[in-house]
Amino acid sequence: MIHAYTFLVLAILFGACGGKPAARPNILLITLDTTRADHLGAYGYARAKTPNLDRLAASGVLFERAIAAAPLTLPAHASLLTGRYPFRHGVRNNGSFTLAETTPTLATALHAAGYRTAAFVSAFVLDRRYGLAHGFDVYDDRLEVERGADATVKAAGDWLVAGAGDPRPFFVWVHFYDPHDPYEPPPPFKAAFADRPYDGEIAFADQQIGELLGRLHAIGGDGSLLTAIAGDHGESLGEHGEATHGLFVYESAIRIPMTMSGANLPRGQRVGALVRGVDLAPTLLDAAGVAALPEVDGRSLVPLVRGSGAGPQDAYSETYFPQLYMNWAPLRALQDARWKFIDAPAPELYDVQNDAGERANRAASDPARTAAFRRAVVAAAGGAERPPATARVDRETAEKLSALGYIGAAVAPPDQADETSRPDPKTMIDVFNQLRDANTALQHRQFTVAAQAARTVLARDRDNAFATMILARADLEEGRYREAADGYRRYATLVGPSADAHHWQAIALSRLGNADQAIAEEDAAIGLDASDADAHELRGGLLASRGRTDAALADLRAAVALAPDRASFHVGLARVLLDTGKPAEAEAEIRRALELQPGNVDALAAQASVLAAQGQPDAARIAFERVLAARPDADDVRLDYAAVLERLGNRDAARAEYERLAAGADTPDAVRREARRRLR
Ligand SMILES: [Zn+2]
Repeated sequence: MIHAYTFLVLAILFGACGGKPAARPNILLITLDTTRADHLGAYGYARAKTPNLDRLAASGVLFERAIAAAPLTLPAHASLLTGRYPFRHGVRNNGSFTLAETTPTLATALHAAGYRTAAFVSAFVLDRRYGLAHGFDVYDDRLEVERGADATVKAAGDWLVAGAGDPRPFFVWVHFYDPHDPYEPPPPFKAAFADRPYDGEIAFADQQIGELLGRLHAIGGDGSLLTAIAGDHGESLGEHGEATHGLFVYESAIRIPMTMSGANLPRGQRVGALVRGVDLAPTLLDAAGVAALPEVDGRSLVPLVRGSGAGPQDAYSETYFPQLYMNWAPLRALQDARWKFIDAPAPELYDVQNDAGERANRAASDPARTAAFRRAVVAAAGGAERPPATARVDRETAEKLSALGYIGAAVAPPDQADETSRPDPKTMIDVFNQLRDANTALQHRQFTVAAQAARTVLARDRDNAFATMILARADLEEGRYREAADGYRRYATLVGPSADAHHWQAIALSRLGNADQAIAEEDAAIGLDASDADAHELRGGLLASRGRTDAALADLRAAVALAPDRASFHVGLARVLLDTGKPAEAEAEIRRALELQPGNVDALAAQASVLAAQGQPDAARIAFERVLAARPDADDVRLDYAAVLERLGNRDAARAEYERLAAGADTPDAVRREARRRLR
């Protein structure tokens, strides 16, 4: 038994094959979001300023023709890290899919092999909630919506320095988001690339790669280093009418840069053969001498680069974004060394070897090849009759994705299973571009422009959920509350059961002064999603306005419990606690709000009210004056301030405040009425 036990320990320590393992290389994986291969110097772009990437490529292997599995950040990264196509790892779109924790990844494999593992991502689309964090000791996604490469490199560099003495090898994945639109490179790249800011973003990312390599060198971490650089997907830059990426699977959006160097890989080699993003993880594991991942679609490219084996025969790419967010047809592509087929309502076949721009569609003139490719796509990825199941997109997620420029709304699956009736994305590109414009206008709070663009889309595509939502939001922001309420009601019919749709209806109805109907909409929202903090918050406020304070307090407490970091929620709860004679509890909520947001004017105003309620008029007066200095137009605060002045016996000053409120053009009606009453 002792022998068996000893063997087991040795097997765990040294791997199942026994014996002493070869020293394993440190591994650095850098993924470059939205970076076209043909915009890097190493890929022949003369105007590039990418010396660090070029040097890395020259020190190893450069794959001239690497294909992404999807033109979308999360599905593409899931494929890079798992070696699986999206139909196998299950992540078909950003925001509404999560990689299953049980799916083995590059990180879980390296972690199991004794590596220290850390990831540093730069955009919310790769937040840990989407499942890529599994296998990483550290998954650094400390960001609101996105962060620049410099911040990400600093975090990664600090982690590397902190672990410099650790004898175990490391695996670090660093993701840069900078080349994603909008293209706004920091100085000095902003000025140097004023006429082509996309290239400026890439130049900045390259500079930060140099920074990271410098920090690695300083701690000796580059001694035995296997480095891989890969794009997640490309960027259309106007080709085929697409400005960015996601809707199409043309080469501009799915061809990616991919280079690897170190760990006995050949130096200065360029590989022209077709390879894929799904080959990245199998190749790195092979090069590092770590056991392969199970059930992968990719394969190790080590035999290909060493000249001892072939590369993959074909490459698959897909985008389900058109179906899941627009209710248009999904696109699936399969390409081999020469031909590329796109499975669309109007199928496309290109001789990509001789027609790299995919201009001449040969599907009609070559029906046999087209049919064979179509059969191959279905055999590989399953029939179109199996649309992927999608999860709910919560409000925070939807807002962050919109802020990142991702547009669309998770649409309800149509009743009929007639997949052929969905519009072909290539016939809808103008509609799509108008939607992008509408979203951009919304993000910049240009509501008139947004509403106009949304109306143009709805004239072409009347059931477009995203356009319906944008129009309703613009109506809400511009004070057309009736239209907004109707618009959100229609949006709800398009997207299916949605707490969000009910909540926005409630906002519009509450602005119309229809508290009871607004409460009913929030009942529906909370019925669908009891964890909707915004719905609890608004319903609590509405219930309080109807005098139902116990129910109001229950909702407001629920909102605070669900979103303890929202200062405004603590203030809202404090206000109702104060009105119901609980100043001590109110004070605790205000203190919490001020801890979260020192100087929060609403919290300071509530604090002044607490002081007044606790019989400390002098302190209350000072507190009110502080608030009014910061926000002189806070008429409700001024009303409370005037009451305190009265209590202090300062009648003239109080009268002056009441007169100011009674005469003010913008004074809310309720405040004005109260001011006039007190003047009498
Ligand atoms: Zn991306």
